[in-house]
Amino acid sequence: MANLGIPQNTIAVLQKYHFNFQKKFGQNFLIDTSVLNRIISAAEITKEDCVLEIGPGIGTMTQYLAESAREVVAVEIDKALIPILEDTLSAYDNVTVINDDILKVDINKIVQEKNSGNPIKVVANLPYYITTPIIMGLFESHVPLKSITIMVQKEVADRMQVGPGTKDYGALSLGVQYYAKPEIVANVPPNCFIPRPNVGSAVIRLTRFNEPPVQVKDESRMFALIRASFNQRRKTLVNGLGNAAGLSVTKEQVRAALEQMGLPATVRGETLTLKQFARLSNLLTEKQ
Ligand code: SAM
Repeated sequence: MANLGIPQNTIAVLQKYHFNFQKKFGQNFLIDTSVLNRIISAAEITKEDCVLEIGPGIGTMTQYLAESAREVVAVEIDKALIPILEDTLSAYDNVTVINDDILKVDINKIVQEKNSGNPIKVVANLPYYITTPIIMGLFESHVPLKSITIMVQKEVADRMQVGPGTKDYGALSLGVQYYAKPEIVANVPPNCFIPRPNVGSAVIRLTRFNEPPVQVKDESRMFALIRASFNQRRKTLVNGLGNAAGLSVTKEQVRAALEQMGLPATVRGETLTLKQFARLSNLLTEKQ
């Protein structure tokens, strides 16, 4: 099958199958060989690797992955794409296509079956409408992972990478940075896709830490605290957390914990580092 990174070849496949793009599935297919090569090199794919691809589309990146990895598992929700993938990937015997929703499949089971439970790499041009649940789902369900190399909306890539004191800093930054080291490896303009998205895109690599950078007594409690802090971004932590449903901490407890950390009672969540959130969470957990 011809290289689908070349626009004419993608157009020929779309015409052959009278394919209708489904907006609801975030379908923007890559048509740029240099971007595809950049993703493969950023993910450092070798013949040892088992790769999970989320949303193969018509199989463009899957072809590149199949050439460089040992094994590829691609999960695609749109059943109209399955016969197309059978055609475009017919030359490869190291690709398994699963017709399912990535948010519903048991990825740990796939890793067990295809890679004996050893860490895999995730590579994807993600459907932008579910970027955060996909990434946080992979981390929080503790899928054995080396790295996640993904195309996302530029603005979302920025949010994953920034630190405190910037407008983009929030629960996603902290969630990602607890589990991985984020690095933006390429900015990608809309004309590299068919159809063109109406936002800029970026490729970001998240390299999984072996150990989290901070010690937390109760991970899920720290994330509940972080979410509550940014839900009410303009409020001080004392007011925001003291009122938050489900956290069961009082304003006095928050004030006392902040004091112990040497922080003023007027501090807002957007200025706290991951280390400070971990400390705050640990102090408030002790008070339970
Ligand atoms: N990988 C292809 C490429 O780069 O040309 C397609 C990328 S396109 C941005 C996103 C793909 O994800 C589409 O094929 C879409 O149908 C698929 N998709 C959307 N939601 C999904 C879900 N919940 N589970 C699995 N695949 C999904």
